Amino acid sequence: MPVTLKAAVVGWPISHSLSPKIFSAFARSAQMPLQYAALEIEPGEFAGALRKACADGWVGWNVTLPHKLAARALSDRLDKSAREAGAVNVIRFQDGKRIGYNTDADGFLAPLKKRGFVSRGKRAVVLGAGGAARAVCAALRREKVADLRILNRTPEKARELALAFGGDAAQWTREELLIAIGRADLVVNATSLGLEGEGSPIHGGAKFKPGALAYDLIYNPRETPFLLAAKTSGAQTLGGLGMLVAQAAATWKIWFKKDLPIAAVENAEAALQEILE
Ligand code: NDP
Repeated sequence: MPVTLKAAVVGWPISHSLSPKIFSAFARSAQMPLQYAALEIEPGEFAGALRKACADGWVGWNVTLPHKLAARALSDRLDKSAREAGAVNVIRFQDGKRIGYNTDADGFLAPLKKRGFVSRGKRAVVLGAGGAARAVCAALRREKVADLRILNRTPEKARELALAFGGDAAQWTREELLIAIGRADLVVNATSLGLEGEGSPIHGGAKFKPGALAYDLIYNPRETPFLLAAKTSGAQTLGGLGMLVAQAAATWKIWFKKDLPIAAVENAEAALQEILE
């Protein structure tokens, strides 16, 4: 009898998470006896639950809001990816130790590379300065974009990211947004504006540069107000679902030390697309 391997995504709340579906699909494809749960754990109970899972021999956890900083603090060792992102979204349990990783940057880059977008030498604009924006800035810096402009509602956070990753911070005003977007080859929405179709960082009047790519990290809905506005102005568009699945594939590699077959990743993404249709 194969030993059942246990893993989970942990957040508060967690009911919205698509991770159980993705990992079940991966486990089926890889014929791995993985039992993957969604655990709703409140902040005060996170540390105890983490230590217990580690002691009980779980493979690892995916960590989502609001636990990413606690996961960093509770890791015995941090991978470079977690140090760069400043937060942990994947933990691997190994010999009673907790090793923290971050797959946001790799997850963000994978769909860009898949569609042949070369970031090197390009002008990029990042909207937002939260946890996801930080990973996006780290990834774009790693890819050697020529110009990185960050706009955020709370300006200090944009300045902090600009300082950390060698970019410029601009004001979160309609005028500055339109100017930044008009010059960019890549515009990333890393704000939560547009989640469940509510709100958008840009409204009518935004003119993208010809051939520019608008990338929204939000995956539900698939076509966000930001992507709709970008499409109307002639930009190419990319939603956040590919990033979500690529992050999960990166987690798999961290936990099991091997890549999933490409077909397993593509099938999981296609299955989710149907759910989110
Ligand atoms: P955070 O809470 O860390 O950051 C939220 C960001 O959105 C901040 O920059 C915040 O600005 C901005 N924001 C929120 N509300 C408004 C508003 N009304 N007007 C202007 N700006 C606003 O979240 P994350 O960085 O973790 O996530 C950001 C988005 O990325 C989410 O929608 C999330 O679903 C998505 N995401 C997708 C992933 C994927 O795999 N596809 C992975 C990770 C995230 P301020 O600093 O001023 O508060």
